[in-house]
Amino acid sequence: MSTALFNSIIFGPIKSRRLGNSLGVNLLPAYCKFCNFDCIYCECGWNQERRDDNRLPSFDEVAKALEYKLIEAKEANTPIDTITFSGNGEPTLHPDFEKIIDKTIKLRDCYFPNAKVSVLSNASMLAKESVVRALKCIDNPILKIDSTSEEIVNIINRPAFNYSLAEIKSRLAQFNGDFILQTMFLRGEIEGKLIDSTSPELTEKWIELVRELSPRRIMMYTIDRDTPLSGLQKVSVEEMERIAAPLIADGFDIQIKG
Ligand code: SF4
Repeated sequence: MSTALFNSIIFGPIKSRRLGNSLGVNLLPAYCKFCNFDCIYCECGWNQERRDDNRLPSFDEVAKALEYKLIEAKEANTPIDTITFSGNGEPTLHPDFEKIIDKTIKLRDCYFPNAKVSVLSNASMLAKESVVRALKCIDNPILKIDSTSEEIVNIINRPAFNYSLAEIKSRLAQFNGDFILQTMFLRGEIEGKLIDSTSPELTEKWIELVRELSPRRIMMYTIDRDTPLSGLQKVSVEEMERIAAPLIADGFDIQIKG
């Protein structure tokens, strides 16, 4: 299946159902994915594809490109609700991530003071203090846990390191609930194993995890575009609503995107 990359540092603004008018920032290479996960559903494709350009944009390049785009948007009266770090991989892998976030907050305050700063991250770099400091300074740290089973994380997310759910949970606990948890729900036969994020066993453990970490918002979503692994199936909004029901009854703020 064909997947897509963002070929520039700044992209958009894109109309996002979850984030409004979102100006994207890509801290990763322009022509290949750069991530320490290799999720089977990743819209950027597999890590091994398009390895011809591994260069990360420098701090100066990001700062200049972002300021240029913010000035352009302001002059054109284009609304920007969120400046969102996502792009071709894991933004927190950038060595100047904290410095870039500091600069982004300054630029946001100058040109679009009401805009939020959001980072979509797989939560793998929380052992690095500068990453945690930066994520605590922004409005929306959107951090991923796709499964409460390490076996299934290894099948779905294919981390390039020894993923420890216990460690990720303890790192997320540092946020005292002031973060947004993002979880992908899907099903399919993967490596000969039937994976179903909606199975009672997995959803019960996921509900326990949400109650334990108590994030201020939860984003449940499913496959929306082409995926590098074929044969994956979407989970319906109704199924996600059913899974979310006990948490909504607890008072959790849950966004469901089908
Ligand atoms: S964490 Fe995000 S960028 Fe990395 S492989 Fe998964 S979906 Fe793609």
